[in-house]
Amino acid sequence: MGRKTFIQVILPLRLEWDPCYYLPEGMQAEVGSRVRVLFAHKEYIGAVSAVDVVPETAVERILPILSVESGLPQVLPEEIRLWKAVASYYLCSVGEVYKAAYPALKREQEAVEAREQERLEAKLEALRTKMEKARRADTRERYADAARALEARLQNQESLPVLGDVDLTPVQETAAQRIREAFAQDKTVLLEGVTGSGKTEIYLKLTRETLQKGRSVLYLVPEIALSRQLEERIAAVFPDVQVFHSGESAARRRNVATRVREAGPYLVLGTRSALFLPHHGLGLIIVDEEHDTSYKQDSPAPRYNGRDTAVMLGIIQEAHVLLGSATPSLESLYNAEIGRYAKVELSERFHQGEQARIQIIDTVAERRKRGMEGSFSRKLLHEIQATLDAGEQVLVLRARRSYSPSLQCTECGQIPKCPHCHIPLSWHRQPDRLLCHYCGHTEPYTGTCPSCGGALQPIGAGTQKIEEELKAFFPESEIARLDSDTPDNEEAAIIQRFAAGEINILVGTQIITKGFDFDRLNLVAVIQADSLMGQQDFRADERAFQLLEQFRGRSGRRGKSGRFIIQTREPQHPVYARLQGGEADLLSERKLFGYPPYTRLVHVILKDPNGKRIDFLSRELRNALLAAFSETDTPPSVIGPYAPVVDRIGDESVRQIRITFARNKALPALKQRLAQAVSDFGKERKYTAHLSIDVDPA
Ligand code: ADP
Ligand code: ZN
Repeated sequence: MGRKTFIQVILPLRLEWDPCYYLPEGMQAEVGSRVRVLFAHKEYIGAVSAVDVVPETAVERILPILSVESGLPQVLPEEIRLWKAVASYYLCSVGEVYKAAYPALKREQEAVEAREQERLEAKLEALRTKMEKARRADTRERYADAARALEARLQNQESLPVLGDVDLTPVQETAAQRIREAFAQDKTVLLEGVTGSGKTEIYLKLTRETLQKGRSVLYLVPEIALSRQLEERIAAVFPDVQVFHSGESAARRRNVATRVREAGPYLVLGTRSALFLPHHGLGLIIVDEEHDTSYKQDSPAPRYNGRDTAVMLGIIQEAHVLLGSATPSLESLYNAEIGRYAKVELSERFHQGEQARIQIIDTVAERRKRGMEGSFSRKLLHEIQATLDAGEQVLVLRARRSYSPSLQCTECGQIPKCPHCHIPLSWHRQPDRLLCHYCGHTEPYTGTCPSCGGALQPIGAGTQKIEEELKAFFPESEIARLDSDTPDNEEAAIIQRFAAGEINILVGTQIITKGFDFDRLNLVAVIQADSLMGQQDFRADERAFQLLEQFRGRSGRRGKSGRFIIQTREPQHPVYARLQGGEADLLSERKLFGYPPYTRLVHVILKDPNGKRIDFLSRELRNALLAAFSETDTPPSVIGPYAPVVDRIGDESVRQIRITFARNKALPALKQRLAQAVSDFGKERKYTAHLSIDVDPA
């Protein structure tokens, strides 16, 4: 028997090490090869992370691999580097990142190729239709250029065509130049620009320059809904843009991965999961709306933040990173302040209009004066009417989907709650049902109290009720609703109809605050803005501010200054003062209280159906953590265990321990110590499955 070759393999599991296998006679593998192996009597397809290793375990217990999967694409060394960086920062296993990067393993390569052809043809068809419909000659010309380039690609698969130039205004060009200069010094850039200032135009300009230099571009957006409108806008300049997000079919996603792997310079528009494509030769990574918490993956591991992972990817790929927002995250502002990032500002809107004027309506005072009709103040109804009369459109935000967020029995006062999560069930109509927004549990709606049979009365109004009220107030108008109850296949049509002016009033949840750019939209209104603040979290106000500022930017985009009306029970809330120009110094507040970004937060989360056991074990875990840190020079602060705001999810109790680290050189080592302590605790108590770690929780 000859000398065996041992290799290490990354498996899609929560393992702290890459297990070792040997290559049977005649099989060959290198770093990045995909291999089929047995682990704990189950088959997995892994990725080879090292070859010719000296095994640490007893050689006779090492298994051979079953096969080399030559039909599957090789993993690039850069991908493995990114997985390791993510695993080490977010305290998860490399295998968990691998699993996120390579979720499905079914092979449909040929079918996929055929569909790619179809997809390009469909795109071309759509472009031609648009060309015919375009009213302006220059728009028509742009579509024609795009169509020609796409035809060329269809015929001979030539590399990505770069089309018509993007013309920046002098102000935008100055900003772009400052970005280029910062890039030349290898700095990540934070572009802070009010909505409508042309950040997107700058992204497109820099994208074009990067592609022309033969390097690829990754353009990240926080959410799928955002990518739809943007895709059209980008496709008019770069028809071969590859769109990648979790809403696309597995086959489509795999296809984009193949294109990226094989293509010369490419352009991907995607959500955070697009970070894990087999990137190579990346020159630029754009993170649009970088403050958005949708960039953070809560569950499962890797619980990573797409923005920060983009910066890691930028280092690995030697690509420039551009973070853009109208309301940057404090994390990025901090990085700019300490000089790690360069900050470039853009304060002028392209269509000279002013920011939408704000009007705050105190609903408590209005109710006292009999100025309310249902959920609406007469003042707001009046403004809506005036806007409709002018032939303009209205967007109404209500942060709670449902007909009514909760119900109460008129006889015994009971509020129907989710049997698993113990939070009020919301009442949804069409069809009638009760729904838990945390675990998805549903019950039929009977209208009567489950314990005494009394009549149930709705408490509060959700989006469905708001829509119904609006239909009664404005029977002549076309009114639609957009929230996560809207079927996926109707979403795009609603957005299109609103863009075309066929819908006069659109009601929705947070979905409608983001990125959409509509010509005739001149009034945006928030019903019960209080529900945006409500949570017991020191960042809730910042998020409310970001959301409201973003929403405000939707109004009055074409040279006209729009209106922004907020109905609230608490008009004195500091968030409104800040919206009206009061510059709050949030960073120094954070510093004072020792909050991030001046510190780093990590949550250890316990979930257990057994309430007694979780209380006992979470206290034990706290003690174990304190012991683990007792010998260190700068031990972090350990708070908890405590029950978070939602303390039961789907029959499981939840407890949290919050660890706050100082930001210094010792931080990475202390984080690893934490991960080790949690892992040891899990193994000793056979409790691993109940534990998770969340670094930089959202
Ligand atoms: P932001 O991304 O900062 O919100 P956009 O790039 O969406 O801003 O620009 C707002 C609007 O102004 C868009 O309709 C865009 O087409 C238009 N616009 C901005 N800059 C230019 C430009 N240089 N040339 C033509 N149109 C522009
Ligand atoms: Zn529930």
